[in-house]
Amino acid sequence: MEQLQRLPPELWVSIFSYLSTEDRHVVRTCCRYLKRLVDHPSLWRADTVLLSDLRRYTYGFWDTLRHRKLTRVAVRHLRRKEWRRLVKFLPSLTAIVFVDGGRLYREKYLENLARFPALRDFGVRNATWDEPMLGRSLSEQLRDRLTHLSVCNIRLTCTVEFINTVSQLVNLRYLLFHQQGEGYGLDTVRPVPCAAFHNLLLHLKKLQHLSWGMRGEPPEPLPEDYLSPADPEQPGAFRYGGPALTSLELVDYPETLLPENALRSLTSLRSLSVRYRYIREGVECRLRTWLSPLQQLETLSIIGGNSLAVYTTTIPSSVTRLTLRVAITLKDMDSIAPKVPALEHLDIEQNRSSGSLCRRIPMLFPQLRTLRTVFPQRTRERPAEPPPAASPGAAGAPGGASFILRDYLNGHPWPSPGVQELINQLRELSENRITVITTMRQRNQLRECDCVWEGD
Ligand SMILES: [Zn+2]
Repeated sequence: MEQLQRLPPELWVSIFSYLSTEDRHVVRTCCRYLKRLVDHPSLWRADTVLLSDLRRYTYGFWDTLRHRKLTRVAVRHLRRKEWRRLVKFLPSLTAIVFVDGGRLYREKYLENLARFPALRDFGVRNATWDEPMLGRSLSEQLRDRLTHLSVCNIRLTCTVEFINTVSQLVNLRYLLFHQQGEGYGLDTVRPVPCAAFHNLLLHLKKLQHLSWGMRGEPPEPLPEDYLSPADPEQPGAFRYGGPALTSLELVDYPETLLPENALRSLTSLRSLSVRYRYIREGVECRLRTWLSPLQQLETLSIIGGNSLAVYTTTIPSSVTRLTLRVAITLKDMDSIAPKVPALEHLDIEQNRSSGSLCRRIPMLFPQLRTLRTVFPQRTRERPAEPPPAASPGAAGAPGGASFILRDYLNGHPWPSPGVQELINQLRELSENRITVITTMRQRNQLRECDCVWEGD
């Protein structure tokens, strides 16, 4: 004990900041002194804790969360008593996401949200509402407070009504809306009508990130200006009147739905992510024309869809971070490399030619600092038991160049002998400039709904 106290507490806290969440939990079990130090709020600031069945948590557990000044939680269905516990023990929450309600809800279910005065970030997924989800009184109370809202896979009574309510949340900077059908039937999902969507974009002046998606296949294509509402104060000559978006994610919007020049007004975008559900034979890939006006783009993610060769010519040279979830050949890599000379981060899918690809990468991308390869696996996340006070910790790369390799195959030794050999080769090829990291990235419960999370 005396030996432990030879180091000042600040230094211990600083040392613990380099540990993973799991390792911090191991430290907690050592002794009371270290337990107190490792629970220092600065070490848990970025944490989102998944709480499930709140009645089983002890006072000691809540005390730990309070001591850590925890502000973000993910919860499943909350019964009335559980709501009360949350309000009582964690009144200063800033973020709450309902990850898997899976039930039928009424308007009053969310009324308790107004009892968290610091709430700014709210999300809800996988449930059905048979009354308006954000009723008038709740939306008025949250109107100025909310900066982040995410709604995924929620069956609403009326989509347009919901979008009109969201338009009132004038301080929103982040909006995720992945649309599900209305009512109870298995009806076709219709996109949010142009007029309601434009109204939303014109009202949310501070919006920076928009993730827009839907399930199902609407029969009609959307109009040319769907993502480009005209400024109503400048009639006559067209002027874009929407928010200066820096990040856009399109989830399952088929090529047939958005027009060729859909992104022409979004020149402020620094990040674009396009997720395709299907590969469409015989439909022209629109990425080529979507990408060409985006001259400030830094981050590009393409998940699925057509072959790379169709759009590599228009990938902006400003891109420094590229994620691709399509089959990549050596030829594709050769043609992409000169397009993105400043590329620093590459994230690709493991395939048969990955070995040869990886070996060429240090030469093709001289600025590259991280490489991540994933094994294709399209399964949904299994609901896991939340360990008490468990939390995702960013698996940050230490300074310097690093390659991250990831394996989803359970039960296999990791890194497998093949991958280990590849890692050794990469080290050699880059003359040890490369640090190899094999840790898994943790899911960000607040931001990553089932549509976008690709983990196990
Ligand atoms: Zn989603």
